[in-house]
Amino acid sequence: MIKTDVVIVGAGPCGLFQVFELGLLGLKAELVDSIRQPGGQCTELYPDKPIYDIPAIPVCSGEELTEALLKQIEPFDCGMHLSEEVTVVRKNDDNSFHIETSAGTEFEARAVVVAGGVGSFQPRQLRVPGAEEYAGKTLHYRVREPKQFAGRKLLILGGGDSALDWVLELVDVAQHITLVHRRDEYRAVPASVDKMRKLVADGKIDVIKNAKASAIEGKDGVIDSIKIQPKEGDPVDVPADHVLVFFGLAPKLGPIAEWGLDINRKTVNVDTEKFETSEPGIYAIGDISFYPGKKKLILCGFHEAALAAFAIKQRLEPDKKVHVQYTTTSPIMHERLGVSSPD
Ligand SMILES: Cc1cc2nc3c(=O)[nH]c(=O)nc-3n(C[C@H](O)[C@H](O)[C@H](O)COP(=O)(O)OP(=O)(O)OC[C@H]3O[C@@H](n4cnc5c(N)ncnc54)[C@H](O)[C@@H]3O)c2cc1C
Repeated sequence: MIKTDVVIVGAGPCGLFQVFELGLLGLKAELVDSIRQPGGQCTELYPDKPIYDIPAIPVCSGEELTEALLKQIEPFDCGMHLSEEVTVVRKNDDNSFHIETSAGTEFEARAVVVAGGVGSFQPRQLRVPGAEEYAGKTLHYRVREPKQFAGRKLLILGGGDSALDWVLELVDVAQHITLVHRRDEYRAVPASVDKMRKLVADGKIDVIKNAKASAIEGKDGVIDSIKIQPKEGDPVDVPADHVLVFFGLAPKLGPIAEWGLDINRKTVNVDTEKFETSEPGIYAIGDISFYPGKKKLILCGFHEAALAAFAIKQRLEPDKKVHVQYTTTSPIMHERLGVSSPD
């Protein structure tokens, strides 16, 4: 049993920054995440993509943001429990919380912060017979290693941002790309659609619209070709070495839905003073939290983490007033950060 001040459910950018804000106030935290690396959506969905709206960082990738957040929390000696899903959160008689994970780790914490993002998110799967036999080999739902597609024939399925971003990114890497979209219109940002159309006009890629994949030809996990069925007319076989599927994510709230919190369509209702849920002592920040005006942006989650930390400090030490102290000038903040105070 690990005893701590706060257990944070989810090590996405907001969960990581929550550790920092709690640490500044002298509170110790343990982080748990069901995926195998910290960073949440930033590392799982778009590690190499540039982010432009983190304050004072003109541009950084999802991976770089995560690395910077991990560096920032180094002074706080936070326990990190990866590849473990928090399954149980239960209040004890003394108002502390009992928390359990799928790996059997148990915590006793004085408060809980749910920073679970969109929950345990899963890419929507390609539904054609035998698709699972190819998944992770030549059928991909995310791109981890773009170099593996060098000189290969790619078939990309989808019409949103991810599908078009990867068309634009891989056009100079792959031998050939065919983009297949089941509709006429694209959901991606207009600038990407324009660039993709220019590639078609220049004869650099092929596009098949109003069509969907209906079968995979191949064996032993190696794809030969994909049968594409248009809305009207006969199917065509498109040769492909790899298929990339970008049908979006299906968020699954998972166990969070079972902790007795006031749920609002896959998000958790909170107040905007403390970011506390309907269950006193359990807070929610980042994409999973909901309140009027909520925006699912990293910078909003950072603000929520700061206010939740102050609220938690006040809950745990009700007789003391929690003062705002500047990291520039406060000796106690310097001590907690492990830096020396200026003379
Ligand atoms: C393609 C794309 C581009 C984006 N670009 C931007 C951008 O430019 N700027 C911006 O501000 N935002 C952007 N976003 C949104 C941004 O990524 C999210 O707002 C942010 O990741 C939310 O952070 P979070 O920590 O709340 O949740 P997440 O990043 O979703 O992390 C939540 C974590 O909680 C874990 N979890 C869930 N349930 C459990 C459980 N029961 N037990 C253990 N772990 C659990 C999940 O595994 C996950 O790792 C983008 C999103 C996408 C998909």
